[in-house]
Amino acid sequence: MSSAANPAEITPRQVANKSDKQALVDAIRMTLAIQSAAVRHNTQTFNRNRYAATARLADYDELKDRAREIKKNAIANLPQLLRQLESSVRANGGHFYLAKTAADADQYIRDLLLKHEVRLVVKGKSITSEEIRLNHTLEAAGIIVAETDLAEFILQVADEQPSHIVAPALHYSRERITALFKRKFSTDLPLDTGEELTKFAREKLREQFIAADAGISGANLIAADSGSIMLVESEGNIRIEKVVPSRTDFGTFIELLPRSGTGQPLTSYVSILHPPLKAPPFVAPGKTAKPREFHMVLIDNGRSGMREDPVLREALRCIRCSACLNSCANFETVGGHAFGGETYSGGIGGSWEAGTGKLFNARFSELCTGCSRCVTQCPVRIDIPWLNENLRQRMNSAQPSSAARSAFGRMTGSAAEDRVAPLQKQFFANYQSLAERASRFPSLANAVNSLPFVRGLMEDAVGLDRRRKLPPFAPKTWQQLYREERNDIGAAKDNVLMFADVFTNYGSSERGMAALRMLRQIGVNVELSPTLSDGRAAISQGMIATAREQAIAAAKMLLPHIDAGKTICVVEPSVLAMFRMDYVHLLDDAAWTQFSRGKFVEPIELLHSVAKQNQIDLSQRFPASRSPHGTRVFYHSHCQQRSCDAAWQTVEVLRACGFDVVTSSVECCGMAGSFGYKREYYELSMAVGEDLFAQVRAAEQDGRRTLVASGTSCHEQLWAGMDREVMHPAELLLSTCRKIS
Ligand code: SF4
Ligand code: SF4
Repeated sequence: MSSAANPAEITPRQVANKSDKQALVDAIRMTLAIQSAAVRHNTQTFNRNRYAATARLADYDELKDRAREIKKNAIANLPQLLRQLESSVRANGGHFYLAKTAADADQYIRDLLLKHEVRLVVKGKSITSEEIRLNHTLEAAGIIVAETDLAEFILQVADEQPSHIVAPALHYSRERITALFKRKFSTDLPLDTGEELTKFAREKLREQFIAADAGISGANLIAADSGSIMLVESEGNIRIEKVVPSRTDFGTFIELLPRSGTGQPLTSYVSILHPPLKAPPFVAPGKTAKPREFHMVLIDNGRSGMREDPVLREALRCIRCSACLNSCANFETVGGHAFGGETYSGGIGGSWEAGTGKLFNARFSELCTGCSRCVTQCPVRIDIPWLNENLRQRMNSAQPSSAARSAFGRMTGSAAEDRVAPLQKQFFANYQSLAERASRFPSLANAVNSLPFVRGLMEDAVGLDRRRKLPPFAPKTWQQLYREERNDIGAAKDNVLMFADVFTNYGSSERGMAALRMLRQIGVNVELSPTLSDGRAAISQGMIATAREQAIAAAKMLLPHIDAGKTICVVEPSVLAMFRMDYVHLLDDAAWTQFSRGKFVEPIELLHSVAKQNQIDLSQRFPASRSPHGTRVFYHSHCQQRSCDAAWQTVEVLRACGFDVVTSSVECCGMAGSFGYKREYYELSMAVGEDLFAQVRAAEQDGRRTLVASGTSCHEQLWAGMDREVMHPAELLLSTCRKIS
């Protein structure tokens, strides 16, 4: 998929609405060429600061639980809270208006300003006003609108939409702001430093503040019982989901919001206002004093519909902190002008664009790979990938059906409801059925897959990018290798079942065997389960019905083992995350209650706990000095492995064995299952991977290191970017053993 337009000629506004897929593709090209460096620098700084700031919070988890509970109850009781808020505002002497639509809100504000003969209005914290296109309405009525937030001021000058919900102009480097101001204001002033730019903008804004006839501000939270408003600098606006019962609820959010966003313990300004103010208004020279009026305008614009929607309702809990944006590798690389719509951006942005606009405005949520890094970072524990998988499912279902899709789905194993999904999605969702066929004649399949014309056909038919190296199918599946070896060593006796996931079974069977053999070295003799799809490939394509069928089948197979008290060991981290994190959505309550009693572990995590329990000296069992691959290692853990808290154990084990380990610090390698294979996203995937490759290069300045990674996708990405083999930690550990049983 390509567009003729030069990325430098694409403006953010042209590609703001992503309902057209080409706009998404063009936006990725534009942001990679123009904005990526600034977005990376700023988001990654926020992200690092957030890790540090939240680590200092002793009660972080309790705060998150409390925040989630407050928001959950507030959304549940919203109609009562709104009535209470209206009474509070009116009792305080203010006016209250609940706008059903964007047009209603615009009209109310415009008519009010015209009635008071307002010619200039100053505005701040205005993402919702972006949602309702307020500036456009006011300007059409002859009212001048001055954005007073510095970032919004920059965007107004540039005529661009926000690219981030906390720092709307985060995609601008200092140099680009200088060039913009010089061009737009025709000034010769030196604007080469942050101070000079701020001073210049402040002088412009000061003129507006003094001359303004009215002010419009948003809010972070509003207390229903008093009408008080909480404002945290650089974020927010007024929306109905911002209402909480009482001012005493503000404290929890003051603790969480700045830390989760920019990593600051507290922002420069936190204001709690109790309007209308009693003090007389400032009167500029030459103006006459007018009585102060306060109007609270709350905007529904689809939020009541979201509240009734079993999936999108969850998005109403969002406190707009931006942690999910800053911890997202794709967002860090392209920002909100690609991973975002006309107003909202990032992983949570799709739900907002769909909820307040049209479903296909959320098409940019395709950039959510489901890596789950944001899930553990969200202060109100929103499962953002689940929201995006549902949006994808709705977009799949909204497509007209076709005979080709239906036939392909029937052949490859899609659930009946999912056979309307595009061929590309059904192709990647049904990895097992395709791999199972190819593995009957792996050499032939590998030879055919390497033919250029076959790659061309695959690219045309299912959008599998021909530049991406395809990993070969294993000569023998994991099941075959296991059966051969079991004939030699006898049946497994221990209480551990290894889940034979499809990715390891067909693509990297030796890796699976290494995990089994490694555990045997510490006396854990593991049984291998039948190979079943777990649903990961399907859920990532938004094929939720298919994923659900597969989850039910996998749970049915595993439940007797769980009931027998067995530990379920899972080599592929994305499958481990399915069992630990995603099955709650796919199984019914009764099945989930049974399933979630299971103990699901990653192999090195199991090794770590068994070694600790039995006081096994790992440096004796797996001495790094005996590894033919050397002791110097670069280890990259898998995104979902980290979200499952199952990655640090590998680092500890490798170090305990004597390896000199450098770890990656990227949130995701960029491959993310099928994402990096797709023609539309190949460049983005490789651009995300570049951060990881750069870390490898930096770690190897003093000599080469063995590349080690836990996830199948990470292997493929490192293989593509570094052009050399990558080991699984189990393979590395096993290489230290004299006798490989
Ligand atoms: S799941 Fe991963 S890709 Fe999706 S929004 Fe969250 S961090 Fe981004
Ligand atoms: S979804 Fe969660 S992490 Fe993202 S902005 Fe909202 S509250 Fe913050």
